[in-house]
Amino acid sequence: MSAFTDRVDAALADRQLKIAVERTAGTAEAKRATAVAAFSDFDAARKRAAAIKDHVIEHLGHYLVEFERNATAAGAVVHWARDADEACRIVINLCQQAGAKSVARSKSMLGEEIGLPHALAEAGIERVETDLAEHIIQLADEPPSHIVWPAMHKTREQVSALFRARHADPHVEETIAAMAESARRHLRDKMLAADVGISGANFLIADSGQVCTVTNEGNAELSLVPPRMHIVTAGIEKLVPSMPHAVHLLRLLARSATGADLTQYTTFYAGPKRAADADGPDAMHIVLVDNGRTRMRSHGLAEMLRCIRCGACMNHCVVFRQVGGHAYGSTYPGPMGAVITPAIDGLNAETRDLAHACTLNGKCREVCPVDIPLPTLLRGWREKSWREGLEPVSARMGIGAWSRLAGHPWVYRRAVGLGNWLLRRIGKRWLHAIPFASGWTRHRDFPAPQSNASFVERYARGER
Ligand code: SF4
Repeated sequence: MSAFTDRVDAALADRQLKIAVERTAGTAEAKRATAVAAFSDFDAARKRAAAIKDHVIEHLGHYLVEFERNATAAGAVVHWARDADEACRIVINLCQQAGAKSVARSKSMLGEEIGLPHALAEAGIERVETDLAEHIIQLADEPPSHIVWPAMHKTREQVSALFRARHADPHVEETIAAMAESARRHLRDKMLAADVGISGANFLIADSGQVCTVTNEGNAELSLVPPRMHIVTAGIEKLVPSMPHAVHLLRLLARSATGADLTQYTTFYAGPKRAADADGPDAMHIVLVDNGRTRMRSHGLAEMLRCIRCGACMNHCVVFRQVGGHAYGSTYPGPMGAVITPAIDGLNAETRDLAHACTLNGKCREVCPVDIPLPTLLRGWREKSWREGLEPVSARMGIGAWSRLAGHPWVYRRAVGLGNWLLRRIGKRWLHAIPFASGWTRHRDFPAPQSNASFVERYARGER
């Protein structure tokens, strides 16, 4: 058993987790369906979105240079990071140069990907999360379990208990509004006193050097406006050529993520505070992070760089809905995570499992607003894992035997007939005793066949 299957077993046994995931993913699924039905020609819009992203990925060098030139002209300092360590080093150095004791951080999956929370803790810099869900998981000392709702795995009852245990002046009434007030009392002064603000970016606009962030709580703005210095960390795939392209993608992002027409807060900004501005940071830095993205581009995973991190693929994934995000054991869970994680961490005995945690039902591709062929990319990892000999011996022997059998149709038909005959006699009573099949039979029923004839034989006879 791998660490992955252990985590999956633990998740399947956790009834609270199932309730929490279903509440949020079920609501998101229903709201997205309503929003998409009300959108005229969603399919054409997502094809255009895919074309915008493909164009940028193909001309990445050009748009990166254009963005750097325009962001610099607006007064920002642009830094380049090859990998997670270099990105963290740049951010920590900037914080230390600013003499920062605390940072107000706005939720960013890139920040999680590069391990920024850990790097800040190691540098002795206090981290104040401005996103409510990030605050919840920081209190619980847990990683995010979803890219849009990091605390999706927690029920409101669990959050209430956590706030009562950790907040100095917790809520009295058992309502969500009272719990939000409890968090506000705990966080507000710390947020406003932070020396440095750190946020991610939803889009980087090449022809203006602007950064765009979308949130539902205004938390990105809390990390942008009050602190003296603002640092943006962003993956290089976040580029778009110009504002109309960003707006087109924004319309799809909000609908796919939460079913809303637009998020509550959508902010575009460039450079630090100017003389005429009422507020804003004195200095602004943008850290552009590769961390495997150029490798993905040149190794057959360019389509994955279209991803706008809406989370729709995980909300609609039958596996994610059963096990939640932590079972994947990586920053990015669900179908998109199963493709990205081996690209960032390398394909190995642990990450190979992710591509197998998929039924290939195609729902993720159907709902993806940038039309990423996730099932095809997952199959690509499976094939690579097979070629590199990472599949377990039992799977290699089983599939090897099956392929030899399938190569001889006459023998195959006889074997299927014999198998049917046997199953009809021994039924499921014996199946659980087959040692190498327990991974399959432990959680699944295997009803006895209805007749000795195979599907092909019954189909040929016209049985429907
Ligand atoms: S792969 Fe598609 S559906 Fe999944 S998060 Fe990315 S953009 Fe959204």
